[in-house]
Amino acid sequence: MRKVVVIGGGAGGMLAAGRAAECGARVVLLEKNSVLGKKLSITGGGRGNITNIAPIDALVAAFGAGGKFLYGAFNRFSNQDLRDLFLRLGVPTKVERGGRVFPESDRAGDAVAALERWIRGLSVDVRTGQRVQGLVAVDGHISGVRVYSGVIPADAAVLATGGVTYPKTGSTGDGYTMAAEVGHTVVTPVPSLSALEIREAWVGRLSGLSLKNVSAKLYSGQKKVAEEFGEMLFTHFGVSGPIILALSKTYAHLKDKSNVTLVINLKPAVSVEDLDARLVSDFVQPRLFKNYLPELLPRIMIPVFLELSGIPADESLNKIRAKDRKRIIELLTNFRLTVKRARSADEAIVTAGGVSIKEIDPRTMESKLVRGLFFAGEVIDIDAVTGGYNLQAAFSTGWVAGECAAQD
Ligand SMILES: Cc1cc2nc3c(=O)[nH]c(=O)nc-3n(C[C@H](O)[C@H](O)[C@H](O)COP(=O)(O)OP(=O)(O)OC[C@H]3O[C@@H](n4cnc5c(N)ncnc54)[C@H](O)[C@@H]3O)c2cc1C
Repeated sequence: MRKVVVIGGGAGGMLAAGRAAECGARVVLLEKNSVLGKKLSITGGGRGNITNIAPIDALVAAFGAGGKFLYGAFNRFSNQDLRDLFLRLGVPTKVERGGRVFPESDRAGDAVAALERWIRGLSVDVRTGQRVQGLVAVDGHISGVRVYSGVIPADAAVLATGGVTYPKTGSTGDGYTMAAEVGHTVVTPVPSLSALEIREAWVGRLSGLSLKNVSAKLYSGQKKVAEEFGEMLFTHFGVSGPIILALSKTYAHLKDKSNVTLVINLKPAVSVEDLDARLVSDFVQPRLFKNYLPELLPRIMIPVFLELSGIPADESLNKIRAKDRKRIIELLTNFRLTVKRARSADEAIVTAGGVSIKEIDPRTMESKLVRGLFFAGEVIDIDAVTGGYNLQAAFSTGWVAGECAAQD
């Protein structure tokens, strides 16, 4: 009987362990925390956005450049297969806005508990509180896994240690070191899907402001590198919310982060010409500028907007000159913020970077360098936007890695 050791008891590791056991292997699962699935249990605000019903092409697209690597895994174990598995394990799921899938109970913890019951039911030897220190490879083949007390012999190992973000859940980047020690290239891990810190000090005065139906463009120098439409939020340090998290994925992958700006269009549904026409017709009134602004902007933005426009608050609308009107339109449609940096790994949702996909066989998740070594989940250099894609990737790669690790 083949012995498979799975390192890491998160989403990818639990699927790998369960599937390897189903395929007839003797499986040991080593998790350094005292419980399994610590990160999975806090996903989706504790509700667990476990996958997305999007077709495979769209799942792949959510990962950007490296997404094609996942075709094989998504085909082998799809989003529907995942929902079927959870149903079989007593966790029916439901679909929400944007195709996001959650447990019907709205509890990510139910998904964790079900997976743990499943793998224990398959006689997986679950050892918590066990931090793996390294891989043992002899003649280019895995022969064991090193823990504090010695070496656990293995015919195959699945490395499913996650990324470097939210380290309090256990993902502290150990897997990158282990993979590098046996010769793998690790693309520098950086936080992705995180809030962005902004240089302009006045953003703090907008803290708590939520903007809906705005567009935000990310520029590197003069070049537009990404654009999103939807909802964003100002915080005491900068900006956050769904469209910012989506843009932060592009930011994470930028090589030069020295001159990055975020340009917000507060009126994306109106053309500049129509906006100008509206202002021209309104600016015949003898009203004060400051009393007119609430028609254009959320109240909390007005003091900052007045400062940036340079137009006196008590200016009468009919005195505002064409040059200043242009400035108002510019601020409404190109509200410019300078990105200082992404929030730290402690707060980011996912890690960009990881074990190079060039060195992993996408059909099996096996290392091309070390026989018997398999990879699952975020330790691999793949990362997607929010929406359930990252967990689906961890589950699919875990399934494939477990199945292939169990085969001789
Ligand atoms: C707050 C938050 C919310 C999220 N929400 C969503 C969401 O709703 N939908 C979605 O798709 N994605 C979400 N994600 C991302 C998703 O959780 C991860 O992409 C996914 O959990 C990765 O799974 P994994 O199994 O690769 O790694 P992890 O879940 O991080 O599991 C890795 C495990 O390995 C263990 N480990 C690490 N090193 C060792 C070692 N040396 N020895 C033994 N064990 C070790 C860790 O303790 C950990 O339990 C969220 C992430 C965060 C932080």
